[in-house]
Amino acid sequence: MSQATPPASAAQADPIVGIDLGTTNSLVAWCDERGPRIIPDALGRSLLPSVVRFNRGTGDVEAVGQEARTEAVRFPRETVFSVKRLMGRGRDDVDAELAYLPYEVVRGENDTARVRVGERVFSPPEVSAIILAKLRERAEAHFGRPVRRAVITVPAYFDDAQRQATRDAGRIAGLEVLRIVNEPTAAALAYNLDQRHADATVAVFDLGGGTFDVSILRLQHAPTETKPGEVAPATGASGGNSGGGGSIDQVLATAGDTHLGGDDVDQMLIALFQGEIQKQFGAGLAFPPATLQALRTLAEATKIRLSENESGAVEIDLGGGRLYKRTITRGELEAMIAPWVERTIDCCRRVLRSAKLGPGDIQRVVMVGGSTRIPLVRRRVAEVFGSEPYTALNHDEVVALGAAVQASILAGINRDMLLLDVIPLSLGIETMGGAVAKLIVANSTIPCRARENFSTYVDGQTSVMIHVLQGERELVKDCRSLGRFELKGVPPMPAGLPKIEVTFLVDANGILNVSAIEKRSEKSAGIQIVPNHGLSRDEVRQIEAQSLAHAREDMTAHRLIDLRNQARLDIRAIERQLAKVGDAIDAEYRDQVAASVAKVKGFVDAAAPDADAFAKALTEMDHGTVRLAETAIRKTLQDEGLTG
Ligand code: AMP
Repeated sequence: MSQATPPASAAQADPIVGIDLGTTNSLVAWCDERGPRIIPDALGRSLLPSVVRFNRGTGDVEAVGQEARTEAVRFPRETVFSVKRLMGRGRDDVDAELAYLPYEVVRGENDTARVRVGERVFSPPEVSAIILAKLRERAEAHFGRPVRRAVITVPAYFDDAQRQATRDAGRIAGLEVLRIVNEPTAAALAYNLDQRHADATVAVFDLGGGTFDVSILRLQHAPTETKPGEVAPATGASGGNSGGGGSIDQVLATAGDTHLGGDDVDQMLIALFQGEIQKQFGAGLAFPPATLQALRTLAEATKIRLSENESGAVEIDLGGGRLYKRTITRGELEAMIAPWVERTIDCCRRVLRSAKLGPGDIQRVVMVGGSTRIPLVRRRVAEVFGSEPYTALNHDEVVALGAAVQASILAGINRDMLLLDVIPLSLGIETMGGAVAKLIVANSTIPCRARENFSTYVDGQTSVMIHVLQGERELVKDCRSLGRFELKGVPPMPAGLPKIEVTFLVDANGILNVSAIEKRSEKSAGIQIVPNHGLSRDEVRQIEAQSLAHAREDMTAHRLIDLRNQARLDIRAIERQLAKVGDAIDAEYRDQVAASVAKVKGFVDAAAPDADAFAKALTEMDHGTVRLAETAIRKTLQDEGLTG
């Protein structure tokens, strides 16, 4: 996601921000005609841990965010986290939560759940307001002006009391909460799913660290009628979000588990390591807190590594010469977590049943939450719904981005840039030497698909970086980088032999899927991108104008890159042939070949060679070395005993 830049337009004079007030982390975002962006803190961090530490004596706030989280182990009874689990709940409703919360939860007015630190008692909205105020400060620093209005997200299953508590939190933080939006709806809005289909049915699968929910929504786009600042009615527990402009959502069904998430996987890995350590070094071995903490960190890091790689090494020095060491493969992890993944899948089936829908009725599946990075989770979700889920937007950020989209709709900001029927700017990939190969050209109608074959430039190359670019210019440096991924595990082959097929697919929602497959080994990799976030119509026009202004020099630059690539390949081939049959050809011819190679090398190394002269020298070299190539082929055949 590109960094947010302060807005210039008058529409932002009194900006409306979108806030994801999360159980674990919170974020603030805003959206202009270029699309939604996260507002980072002064250190560039986007996540604000939803953690507050109070002073036991005075009840003052001592730390908010990362600092409070880091020191939580030292101040277990002063550090309040996961307060979202208490929002709008009665003291008796949260019994099940208490096992997870080391701070004190007491009974307040009307039997509500309250937090007590020392002598002070805080309502959950008061604690949440401290987090919201911090985000508000962040936004104000960014805009350089007061921020008074916000859209805040809540889980789809929040009831009226929980929604009201969230509104109260906003009010205490000095924010007018223009709308409470369901988190799954926000995720769908971040992908503009409200705009493409007249009546879209979307499944949102949200698997985080500690909670899981899956919702089925029906989204409709309603023209903006609300004037900026006008307050739309609150959303009811059933989710029916009506009134005002923007999107109307209806939560058809929701299911989940408030204690199911990535933490469970960490626990399974910890148990595995502990069991093996005891087997190896004695059953009586104790695990002091520091070792347990190290195990936890290692377990999570291992889990995350296995989302990217097929295997990972685990090493723990237990002191006294005891070293626990093993390699764990993705297959092992998948076998271990399969029942856990199936619990989420059962929920998906259940939610479909209660919405009275089949998988075929779902137009799109959106993934939210860090644990949806686990390949087995993605695979199973794709299988159940029969379509590839959306993962393009950062799983941490997608809800806040969607809240910002809702805010922009309320502010009357035109985000039609994001909603085009054509590709506004060409899409392609980087090729050798910094040139761009365009796969989809500007103004193609969406949905569209393009496929092209590439290969390697180096012998024995086992991985290929695919760099996805957008723009009209010919060189990478003049285009906009949209993302990159690596195709790994290509079997070593001579340069040019691997057949790498790259496919670009832009679907009806404008989401770009890029995949690469090496045809011999069937290795594949891919990435999903939202290409139009971060660009305004004016910027697109500017980019087009620049491409016209630079057309000639760009073509020359691209041609020079191609010539250099070709020249290097040809020179390498000639050098190999010379090494093989150099002795068998006459000295005069050898000198002639050397001279033509030297001439081409001169062009390759020159800063700004004349392209026509370069091309001429390359053709001459190629023609002049036909005899050498033939001699080399003959020698090879002779060596292999194929000719007389
Ligand atoms: P969230 O609550 O959405 O921030 O999700 C946090 C959870 O996602 C934690 O359990 C993380 O360990 C997990 N997580 C984050 N990145 C990955 C990844 N690449 N692979 C697997 N789990 C991940």
